[in-house]
Amino acid sequence: MKLDLVAIPVTPRKIVVSDFSWLPKADDILISQAKAVLTVVKDGDMKVVVNGNLQFVAEFSCDRCGERFSSDVDVEFTYFFKHGVDARFQEEEVELNEEDIDTVYLEEPSIDIHDILLDQYFLGIPESRLCRQDCQGLCHRCGERQSEEGCKCEPDMSDSPFAILAKLKK
Ligand SMILES: [Zn+2]
Ligand SMILES: [Zn+2]
Repeated sequence: MKLDLVAIPVTPRKIVVSDFSWLPKADDILISQAKAVLTVVKDGDMKVVVNGNLQFVAEFSCDRCGERFSSDVDVEFTYFFKHGVDARFQEEEVELNEEDIDTVYLEEPSIDIHDILLDQYFLGIPESRLCRQDCQGLCHRCGERQSEEGCKCEPDMSDSPFAILAKLKK
């Protein structure tokens, strides 16, 4: 979904996204309840500010135990877009403020909403996917999930310092 910079009004325009076909198809991630709202406003000549929020529920497999679980993702974002090169950058010394650093310079006078949302989708997906922060993974002996109930195995003491001491004493 492309927005023409020239056509964006000076008064803020709210866009409720209904097309989520840009969401990547991945076998291991299931996305549901996706919602996205953006506010687009023109700020001077050929400069546009986009504020927005992307929410979805992602279902993954735990990196440690393989159990499926879901996680709510909610990301807020702000982009500054400018078309053309800022005349100030032609000068030798330019003091950059925070907004300059966050500004995206466009080659074409249009913004792709779906590209923005795709960026935010990847930022929102957690890098380590654990069903619980302290997930113990699978037992290396029986292959069962080590939950609070635990598996049926006896605690493995063979690697503990006490077990090594016991061997040394023999
Ligand atoms: Zn897990
Ligand atoms: Zn076990």
